[in-house]
Amino acid sequence: MDRQPKSGENGKPKKRSRQTGETGQATIATSVHVKKRTQPKIFEQLPQEHIDIFDTNQVRFLQAVKYGNFHPDVVEHLFQPDKELTFYVRVRIEDSKDPSENGKVKTFQCHRIQHNRILGPYKGGMRFHPIVDLAECKALASAMTWKCALIGVPFGGGKGGIRMDPHRYGKHDLYRITGELVRNIVGEIAPMQDSLAPDVNTNAEIMDWIFHFFRYYTRDRWQDNLGGVVTGKSVECGGLAGREPATGRGVVHAVKEHFRYKYSPHDAVHPLRATRFSVQGYGNVGSFAAMGMEEEGSKLIAVQDHTGCIISEDGMDAHELAAYSKEHRGVAGFPQARACSPEEFFSAEVDTFIAAALENAITEVTAGLLNCRLLAEGANYPTTPSGDVVLKKRGIDVLPDIYCNAGGVYVSYLEWDSNVKGNHYTIEQVYRHLREQMKSRYYSLMDVHDELKQDIRTAAMVVALRRIVARLVREEPFRNLSAKLT
Ligand code: NAD
Repeated sequence: MDRQPKSGENGKPKKRSRQTGETGQATIATSVHVKKRTQPKIFEQLPQEHIDIFDTNQVRFLQAVKYGNFHPDVVEHLFQPDKELTFYVRVRIEDSKDPSENGKVKTFQCHRIQHNRILGPYKGGMRFHPIVDLAECKALASAMTWKCALIGVPFGGGKGGIRMDPHRYGKHDLYRITGELVRNIVGEIAPMQDSLAPDVNTNAEIMDWIFHFFRYYTRDRWQDNLGGVVTGKSVECGGLAGREPATGRGVVHAVKEHFRYKYSPHDAVHPLRATRFSVQGYGNVGSFAAMGMEEEGSKLIAVQDHTGCIISEDGMDAHELAAYSKEHRGVAGFPQARACSPEEFFSAEVDTFIAAALENAITEVTAGLLNCRLLAEGANYPTTPSGDVVLKKRGIDVLPDIYCNAGGVYVSYLEWDSNVKGNHYTIEQVYRHLREQMKSRYYSLMDVHDELKQDIRTAAMVVALRRIVARLVREEPFRNLSAKLT
């Protein structure tokens, strides 16, 4: 790697001066109008900005096409997904928290989006959440196309989900809902066709169920190489040790590399030592990111999840909070910290703010409150377009979602590879590959950031698109058009 970390003044990490971010770029006009939509409140304590994240995706995509100078045929090819599936599953509910539902048949809307498979089989999570809708799944599937290309795995983008609140139902209901989901898409998914993964409110146990039902409905119960139809499984069902913490650990590698490069600290081996951070969302991504940051010597100051906000100026123990949050299903009441308002949470003075909850959390308002030098996007689409404008103005760097949270799909690829091709990875190998991949991709995107003089988000999109276009020009209907396309 030829790039060297830049020197800060006196070789020290720069202070939180707001001078260190990218220069403000004028927002380009695009043909996509970002419209607001009504949906259930998710970040209810602060003024809300309900943005259709598929529109956000299209704006960012068109920006990258413009600054990366791609041919309009590339837009034509990637602007809409290959396939959109919407279907309904019906299950007789037995164990709802709402007793009036028990014994009745309930219908759930489901989606699976297959965005693009130019680089390989569609790959992406299944989310169980009350605000899942078609536009959200289209945006998340597009993000998977960019993410897989950027991180360098042979997958295209997919995503899906069930519109429901899984906390309302018992395990047996969730098991049968998952079974019906699989029955409906069994002809659309396969290791070399479309491979599922965990996302919000889904975990290894649910991935195991998906695998079980897939084998059941395809009647290929005794065939061993089908595990690649879903990743994020338990180790007992063919999963890979190290997949569960992978996204959070990847976030830490991204943040660490950014500090090493940008602030050129005295301690280049531990560039995060003596820094401070906050986390929004303390689920899979947020908790593993927090524990990893703590292991790097950074202090956890403030946390927000769906149960509330907590803060401690002296710092709190990320590992103990993870155990507490698992037991109490949220961070509220953690004894090492005091409750605080969302305003206090967002404005806590930290070096890194990790957004690891849901989309549209960093709005014009919350971006104005942040008191950090780096926003690390562990979640997908956590920043709205107007939030982006404020962050740029304030000189807060952003490590964009398609890079920052790509550690999950990278390790999913290793799991898929071990299931499909029989390659074996120890946990040490998984962690080493993850670290090296996050590091090398950081420098390839910073090279493009310097080359184009655009923000890191646009640079990341351009890196992804260049990889996709390099393949597109070898296939119909683009063959022989390479000079035109690139
Ligand atoms: P999760 O369900 O494990 O955790 C979600 C967290 O968000 C929980 O702590 C929840 O309390 C919190 N949350 C929900 N509503 C909130 C609100 N209104 N205010 C504050 N916090 C709120 O989900 P996850 O797997 O950690 O995913 C989080 C994000 O990361 C999602 O955007 C997901 O798409 C993205 N992501 C996940 C993975 C993965 O491997 N799990 C990979 C890439 C990206």
